Amino acid sequence: MFYSLGEYPLFNVKRPIYLDSHATTPVDPRVLETMLPFFTERFGNASSRTHAYGQDAAAAVRTAREEVASLLGAGAREIVFTSGATESNNIAIKGLAHARRDRGRTIVTTEIEHDSVLDVCGALEREGFEIVRLPVSRDGLLSLDILERAVDRSTLLVSVMAANNEIGVLQPIAEAARIAHASGAVFHSDIAQAAGKIPLALGEWGVDLASVSAHKLYGPKGAGALYIRRQRPRIEIQPIVEGGGHEGGLRSGTLNVPGIVGLGRACAIARDEMAAEADRLAALRVRLLDGLTSRIDGVSINGSMSARLPHNLNVSFEGIEGEGLMLALGDLAVSPGAACASATDAPSHVLRAIGVPAALARATIRFGLSRFTTAEEVDEAAQRVARVVHHLRPSGQSSRTVNSSVQNSA
Ligand SMILES: *Cc1c(COP(=O)(O)O)cnc(C)c1O
Repeated sequence: MFYSLGEYPLFNVKRPIYLDSHATTPVDPRVLETMLPFFTERFGNASSRTHAYGQDAAAAVRTAREEVASLLGAGAREIVFTSGATESNNIAIKGLAHARRDRGRTIVTTEIEHDSVLDVCGALEREGFEIVRLPVSRDGLLSLDILERAVDRSTLLVSVMAANNEIGVLQPIAEAARIAHASGAVFHSDIAQAAGKIPLALGEWGVDLASVSAHKLYGPKGAGALYIRRQRPRIEIQPIVEGGGHEGGLRSGTLNVPGIVGLGRACAIARDEMAAEADRLAALRVRLLDGLTSRIDGVSINGSMSARLPHNLNVSFEGIEGEGLMLALGDLAVSPGAACASATDAPSHVLRAIGVPAALARATIRFGLSRFTTAEEVDEAAQRVARVVHHLRPSGQSSRTVNSSVQNSA
């Protein structure tokens, strides 16, 4: 069952068209329905084993743990609940580095990771760890040859995201894990954008640690999970938050039962609907891209179109001043390619890493389609973007002076 945002029970007023699902997604009504009793009548503390309230909460958490594990291709005992992917990235990377600091000092990652990976690496660098940030190709892909050359016996950890949050590009995670393991390094992946969107088999792929966020897959904000491999080999990490010994001592603090239950249901829905939904989204993305390129010249796609999340599109428009773009698109909820809409603002580190010139990065839009996006919304969005781009282009600049480079980016 799909709703458009207009029909969605919580969105019955006229709102901008939401195409920013890499930033966050609304809670699916089915997820909300599953969560609600755990705020009120089923409010028990999952650690209170001596009475029915606690036992009920613990049973709900157990079910959620199985649902999360099942989506990821992991075992339930390998799931630790956290507050989201930022915390999971912190626990995974700092916790691993601190547990294995006597073994080596190097962490290998990429230039296009989420800030919550790059900033944790920066903090470890100040502690004396060595961070290697690998470049990616023009289409956003990490070269396995470059990775192989960067990893050696001093490498503690390799961290490569499964799907990028700006350009949607998918990295070869199983192959990267194999390269890490060949040198005795542990392999972590930020799968916040991939979980629930593409099939994952973390156990089979040899991933050791992985970070999940509920609000990127139609679950609630402030809930997430960290996958930690339990066997062949068992991964040891040092906890960051200490306290009551919750979650096997790896993340103390009373469990956020409603959030965990919501994450579990979100994972169960994603598992059931992912395949059909990916097809639907891929078709909508074609529709969006066609809607843009049929009306606008000089559209370039950022990132590989073949190794890509089905619901992501990241495009730049040649020949316009980017500052006006976001402002003029006020009735469209999308993300820009630079932090803010001004000429002095730095382009995103991801666009910089794939070589998009600063001026073009400022004239860039990230579209993130969602479970609730309709064909009508996509058509309307393409029309609005076209109107704005034409308006911003200096008059007289036409299809003959600005050539489309779409075909170069596939
Ligand atoms: C959103 C996101 C995060 C942060 O997740 P939170 O749950 O909001 O902390 C981390 N990594 C990626 C790739 C993301 O898209």
